[in-house]
Amino acid sequence: MTNFEDTIAAISTPPGEGGVGIVRLSGKSALAISAQLFRSSREKDICTSSQQVFHGHIVNAAEETLDEVLLHVMRAPHSYTREDVIEINCHGGAAPLNAVLEAVLTAGARLAAPGEFTQRAFLNGRIDLVQAEAVIDQIRARTRAGLQAANAAASGTLSQRLHAISDQLAYALAHIEAAVDFPEDDLPELVTPELFEHVRAAYDQMRHMLATADAGRLCREGAVLAIVGRPNVGKSSLFNALLRDTRAIVSKHAGTTRDRIEEYITLSGIPVKLIDTAGLRQTDNEVERIGVALAREALENANMILFVLDAAAPAEEEDVCLAQELAELTLPTVVVLNKADLVDVCVSPACCASFADTVSISALTGDGLKKLEDILVGHLLGGVNLDAGQAMLNRLHQKESLRRSIESVERLLDDTTLSPEFLALELRDALHALGEITGETTPEDILDKIFSTFCIGK
Ligand code: GDP
Repeated sequence: MTNFEDTIAAISTPPGEGGVGIVRLSGKSALAISAQLFRSSREKDICTSSQQVFHGHIVNAAEETLDEVLLHVMRAPHSYTREDVIEINCHGGAAPLNAVLEAVLTAGARLAAPGEFTQRAFLNGRIDLVQAEAVIDQIRARTRAGLQAANAAASGTLSQRLHAISDQLAYALAHIEAAVDFPEDDLPELVTPELFEHVRAAYDQMRHMLATADAGRLCREGAVLAIVGRPNVGKSSLFNALLRDTRAIVSKHAGTTRDRIEEYITLSGIPVKLIDTAGLRQTDNEVERIGVALAREALENANMILFVLDAAAPAEEEDVCLAQELAELTLPTVVVLNKADLVDVCVSPACCASFADTVSISALTGDGLKKLEDILVGHLLGGVNLDAGQAMLNRLHQKESLRRSIESVERLLDDTTLSPEFLALELRDALHALGEITGETTPEDILDKIFSTFCIGK
């Protein structure tokens, strides 16, 4: 657990060269430490001036100028952490940033741990845990849709929905607890069917949240699609077509894709890593054999497989063997009958009967590509319809807590005639589990673990 008395500092911009780099400070002494090192070009005192941005220089203890800077003052509680925050905009290179950071640390600040600024924002009550985790999603978003969802969560929409659920459960709990406390009193009946309507409404909303949690996680973490098939069926052509670019070598000679080629595409807002594998065939060629081994490894990490076949040629023994191998993996597999432009009718071979989806395409003309993409999105999202930018729970620990909360509510709804003591217990457990998502009841060690995954300076 971090010490709140400390004033913390870190370089908040990424390493490397840039126009500007920022050293950020937060804490009780942020202003005093900065004032020690800052020489304003207009001789302003940053501690007393109402101004927020100052131009000047940072000097060390020997009064040597370290860098020309712009200094931003954000006074508590109107800052990211709700503490006094100073941001020193230096020149964006390693030497000026390190020199300024060192001066700040020498003057009394402590180097911030990863995520410590955000952790303070959370512990000072400016944001809850859902919003804090959304901040890191904003930074790491790989698609526009991912950023929109993170923005929505960071602004508190998801937290509001969770609080609305908690409020319904807490309302029911208050009545049930009163029934426990005053069983003999002449109170109007407290535990009424109407009360359970509140619980049921909360339950329905929780189920909906749970149903979208996997999709949320996928949008954040991304999916891996492996393109598999025997040589020359058009895997590289399909890879390029999905990429809308020429990245993989297309050749009529079998075995041209010997390494594993990876690129990112976006499908309906989901970041997807596309892997063009070497054909999975038996080969004596050493280089190709390494490619085949890499292809097998790719399959182990894939969310889905595109099994490509040549629609214009009868299935070969290699296709059949591959179909068997893929069927054993039990990963969602879409059979792609490529080169549809060469035949009148595409027929899926018997060896592919066990796979749920088949789509005919021509990687050459682009026909069928849209349908293939729709099938992939449908599979990846598990049939969940996403509104663009919808905020969803997107972490395993959130889903786990929600699931436990739902289980408690389910036990209660299963038999509402049970003793008020029992009903209250279930509701308390449900509320506690929900509180783990928003951070109210999250154990300290888990909080530390969550924030330690953040970047330094955030
Ligand atoms: P890979 O070995 O499976 O990666 O196959 P390639 O993508 O290198 O393609 C092998 C050959 O099939 C090349 O000559 C491609 O131009 C050709 N090809 C790929 N897709 C199609 C298609 O949809 N229609 C036609 N007519 N030819 C294709």
